[in-house]
Parts: sequence; C-alpha cells; structure tokens
Amino acid sequence: MQVPAYVEYEKATSVAHALALLDRFGPEARILAGGHSLIPMMKLRLAQPETLIDINGLSELSYITVTAGELRIGALTRHAQLLDSGEAARHFAVLHDAELVIADPVVRNWGTVGGSLCQADPSEDLSAAFAALKATMVIAHPGGTRTVPARDFYTGPYETVVAPGEILTEIRITIRPGGGSAYEKVGRRAGDWPVGAVGSALWLDGGGLDCGGADRGGADRGGLDGGIIADAGIGLTAVGAPHFAAAGAEEFLRGAPATEESFARAGELAAASCQPVSDQRGPADYKRHLACELTIRSLRRALARARTHGGGAPGGAPQDEG
Ligand SMILES: Cc1cc2nc3c(=O)[nH]c(=O)nc-3n(C[C@H](O)[C@H](O)[C@H](O)COP(=O)(O)OP(=O)(O)OC[C@H]3O[C@@H](n4cnc5c(N)ncnc54)[C@H](O)[C@@H]3O)c2cc1C
Repeated sequence: MQVPAYVEYEKATSVAHALALLDRFGPEARILAGGHSLIPMMKLRLAQPETLIDINGLSELSYITVTAGELRIGALTRHAQLLDSGEAARHFAVLHDAELVIADPVVRNWGTVGGSLCQADPSEDLSAAFAALKATMVIAHPGGTRTVPARDFYTGPYETVVAPGEILTEIRITIRPGGGSAYEKVGRRAGDWPVGAVGSALWLDGGGLDCGGADRGGADRGGLDGGIIADAGIGLTAVGAPHFAAAGAEEFLRGAPATEESFARAGELAAASCQPVSDQRGPADYKRHLACELTIRSLRRALARARTHGGGAPGGAPQDEG
C-alpha cells in the first residue's frame, strides 16, 4: 500500500486563516479540499507538499445560491451537492448533466467543485461545463479578491492562474434569458473519466420560450429547429481543446439560426479546433469524431431546453424534451 511522504497538517478555520497559513508556510504548502486528487498524487510522489492546509471545515465556502442575477457556487461545494441542487439544474442543466457522470457516489460525496477546477486535469468534466457557461472564477488573496474568466483560468495541464498564497473561493455564472444547456460524455465505463465530452449552452433571441421550431420548418427534424442564436458556449474536455472551449464554433453560431445545419457546422468547427492525443482511452481520430458528434448532440438538447424552459427545468432536475 502506498503511503504519502511526511507532511505537516494545519486546519483552517476561515478563508482569512487559510490565506494566513498559506503565507506562513510558503509555496510548498497546498490546500486540501476533498483530497481525491491530491492524496493519490502524494502517494505516487507526483506531489510532495510540505504542509497541507485543510479547508474542509470552511462552511463559508460550501453553498449554491442565486445572488445579483448570478448562480454562485462556493469552491468547497461537493459534487453531490451540485448534483442535488434544484437551483443549479433549473438555471444550468449542463451542471446536473455533468455531475451525473462524474466518478461514483464515493468520489462525489467528498470531492469538491473547487478541487476539481484547481486540479486542472485536461479531462476534467466541470472545466468543460463552466467553459460552456462562460463562468467567472473568484480568487481570494491576502489583499482581497480578483475575478478571472473560466477560459483564462488554466495556464496548461494541471496548471491554473491560482498562485501560491491564493485560494479559489467561488464560481459565478450570469443568468440570462433564453438559455438552455446540456452535457454529453462518452467514457469507457460508468464513472470513468471521459474519452471525450462536450457541454453546450445556447441563448436564443427573444427569450427562448415559444420559439416555434415546428412553425419555422423544424417539424421535419423532430421540431428542434427554431430561433436565432444570440450567444453560444461550447466547452470540450479530454480532446485537447484550447481553454476547454471551441471559440470558432461559438463565433459561427452567434446570430445564426438554431438549425441542424448550423449545429453540424459548429460540430465540424469544434472538432477542427481540437488537438486530441492517442492514449489508453482511444485514438486521436476517434476523439476528434467525438468532439464533432457530441457538440451536435449537446447543442440539440440545449436548444430543446431553451425552447421549453428558457434554461433548465422547473423545480429541479432537467427533463429532456424530444
Ligand atoms: C476514482 C475517481 C474517479 C474520478 N472520475 C472523474 C470523472 O469522471 N470526471 C471528472 O471530472 N473527475 C473525476 N475525478 C476527479 C474528482 O472529481 C476530483 O479528484 C476531485 O473532485 C478533486 O476535488 P478534491 O476536492 O478532492 O480536490 P483535492 O484533491 O483536495 O485538491 C486538488 C488540487 O486542487 C487544490 N485545491 C483544492 N481546492 C482548492 C481551492 N479552493 N483553492 C485553491 N486550490 C485548491 C489542491 O491543493 C490540489 O492541488 C475522479 C476521481 C477519482 C478518485
């Protein structure tokens, strides 16, 4: 059985205390959240912090609220809390979709949203979901807080803009009318990391509801077509997408009709922007194919949700519309 190397342990009692501990113990100190990534890395000697600063007691970082027109998620929110949140699902169904397929209940009960993002694994599911939603990260430092767009959060594999001495405290997503979102993932087995996954978000002109796809010629495509896309977000993971996003596909969709043709082109653009690598999860060509196909599927579901609910589902978990 692998055992981590000797390490000092400190338990933070507040965000201010955690920041003070980070300052005191210097760059070799690390935040301990759920520990589901950090502890295995310490066992493998891929991480050798000198001090762990445990933030698990900080209830002030564990919440999901709607404040000032934004969904705000505390960094210590567990995966299971996000999965169970009716508020999150109502506004951004992509989060519920993604949490349904992240790991298993044991990992979800303990692993945190902030830990997942700060781990910055290139296959992380929530990175794609938050990229699609164009979220903002709030980072605390000794002088106050700063905000960073989700797409500027990562500086490379396993690297973020969170500096030694800083803590990710919150993720914010602006709630806009006419929105719908969805997540599509292909893994080798249930609870596994993705071979490829895509989160999409659409915001329709005119608020989304009653877009009348069938009236605009969408009936022959299952009634899905309809409306003009005011804005789109496409987040991809495990397929080598720069900043976990497909900026060119989003640009193409902005102002375009919400049709199968538009989604097919967006899928092609998304796939072309990726640089997947062949590994034990699959060959690069297959992953590129997934990037295209999962973009199309997630856009279809996002559109159906935008047209029906204007975002998520009334009262909780998203229901899919045919
Ligand atoms: C068996 C298994 C299966 C998994 N499957 C999936 C999957 O399918 N999809 C997926 O996306 N993920 C998956 N994961 C990853 C899992 O979601 C993450 O490991 C976990 O949630 C990370 O969060 P944590 O709270 O445990 O972070 P920790 O392990 O505690 O921390 C991870 C890193 O982030 C830093 N950190 C943590 N919180 C903060 C903060 N607030 N501010 C600054 N730095 C911070 C730590 O110092 C550390 O460097 C899986 C993990 C396991 C063990």
